[in-house]
Amino acid sequence: MSDVPEGNLLIRGAHVLTQDPHVAGGMVDVRVEAGKIVAVGPNLPDANARVIDARGTVLMPGFVDTHRHLWSSIFRFMAIDWGYNDYYEIVQIQYSPRLTPSDLYTANLLGALSAIDAGVTTLRDESHVQNSPDHTAELVRALRDSGMRAVFAYGWPSIDLLSWQFESTKPHPSDMRRAREELLRDDSALVTMNAMLRGPELGGGPDLAVRDIEFARELNIRSSMHVGHLKEPGIEWLDDRGALGPDLLFLHCPATTDHEFELVRDSGGHVQATPWIESVMGGVRPPSTARMLNAGLKPGLGIDTETGAASDMFNVMRAALAADSLMHKLGQTDFEKLPWLTSSDVLEAATISGAAAAGLSDRTGSVTPGKDADLILIRMDDINLFPVTDPTKAIVAGGHPGNVDTVMVAGRILKWEGKLLHPAWRSVQQDAQVILSRLVEQSPPVPAGYVPGVDKWDQ
Ligand SMILES: [Zn+2]
Repeated sequence: MSDVPEGNLLIRGAHVLTQDPHVAGGMVDVRVEAGKIVAVGPNLPDANARVIDARGTVLMPGFVDTHRHLWSSIFRFMAIDWGYNDYYEIVQIQYSPRLTPSDLYTANLLGALSAIDAGVTTLRDESHVQNSPDHTAELVRALRDSGMRAVFAYGWPSIDLLSWQFESTKPHPSDMRRAREELLRDDSALVTMNAMLRGPELGGGPDLAVRDIEFARELNIRSSMHVGHLKEPGIEWLDDRGALGPDLLFLHCPATTDHEFELVRDSGGHVQATPWIESVMGGVRPPSTARMLNAGLKPGLGIDTETGAASDMFNVMRAALAADSLMHKLGQTDFEKLPWLTSSDVLEAATISGAAAAGLSDRTGSVTPGKDADLILIRMDDINLFPVTDPTKAIVAGGHPGNVDTVMVAGRILKWEGKLLHPAWRSVQQDAQVILSRLVEQSPPVPAGYVPGVDKWDQ
C-alpha cells in the first residue's frame, strides 16, 4: 500500500459525479484544501498538493445513511428471517438491556467501520439504548473514534422498554439535555446531535409527541421519528397540532398516506426510506420511496439495522428499484400512476437528498466547492463493473463495498487502496464476537415462530 495522502490534495483522472446540478462533473479535477473542496474543474493547478492519480475510478460524494441503529450491529444478520416482532422481542427487549457501556462502544465502532468500508461518510445513528450517561458517552466516543461524520440521535432507554413505548406516559428522557450540554454542544463538529423521538405512533400518542418535539426544539436540535408502521395517521396528528416543521425527519413511512407526504412537503420537513428492510422485514413493509418522490419530497435512504441488512447503500439502492418495480407490476393502485424510480433517483437519494434530510446539505452530500471533502473513489475497472456505459447505472446496478477504493471524511482518508485504515478493526470484531457469544450463551435467541414473511405487525 502506498503512503496515505494527507494535507492538500488534487484528485486527477476520475470521472466525477458531483450530485450538484450547478457543478459540472465528468473528467474534471477536484482540489481539496484544509479538509474542504475548494475547486472542481479541468486542469486545476497541483501546486502545494499531493496528486492522487484516480484514473479508472468514479469520484463522488460519500453515501449518507439517514437511518441506522448502530448499536444493533453486534447482532449482525440474526433477524434476516424474522419479522419485526421477533426482532423487537429478541434484539431490543431480550438483548439490548444487557449491553454495557463498553459493549456499546464496540457495537457502534463495529457498525461505523463497516459503513466507512462501504463508502458511507455520513451516518445518522438512531440510538435507543440510552440506559445511563455512561452508555451514552461510550456510544458517542465510538462515533468520534471512527472518523466518520455522524449524527447521534438521542433516543430512549432500552431497560424496561415497554414503559417508554406505546401506552407510555413518560416524556422523552430529560437526560437528553445533559447530553446536549455536556457531550454534544458543538453543531460544527464531525459528530453532532439530533433527537430520536418515539413520535405519535410508537409512544404515548400525539400530545406527548408534541411535547417531545418541543423539548428538542428547546435544545435547538432536529428530531427524527418512525411513522407509518401501524396504519395510524401520525403525521396528520402532528399537523393538527401545528407541530410539523423543517426540523423533522420521518423514518420508514410504509403506511403514510399521500396526503401526509404533502403535509410534510408543505412544512419543509423530510422523509427517508430503508427499502431493503422495508422489502424483507414483515411489519415495516413496503418502501414508500416512489410515493415520497411523487409528493415532491426528496427522500434520503438508510440501512436501518445490520440485524437484517448489509451495511452498504448499494444494496439499499437496488432494493428501492426492485421493490418499486414489483409494486408497479403487482398493480397496487397507488403506484400505477407513479413514475418509475431510476438509477439517478436512487443515487441522488443516497447522497445529496440524504444530506438534506440530515440537515447537513451545507456541509456534505455533493462535490461542491465550499463543502467538506466527504468523497469516495469507486474503482470502475474492477472485473464486475468494466466496461462502463454509464457510471451511475453501473454503480447502482453492480457496485459493492469491494469496489470502494478510497473514502475520505473532511479530507481525512479513512480507506485507501481498498484497505480500511482504522488500526483496531480486527480487534473490534474480536471484542464483538466475545460480547455476542456471552449474550447468546446467557439467553439464546428463540423466535416466536411466525412464518417467515408474516408478522403480527403486518395489518
Ligand atoms: Zn429504525
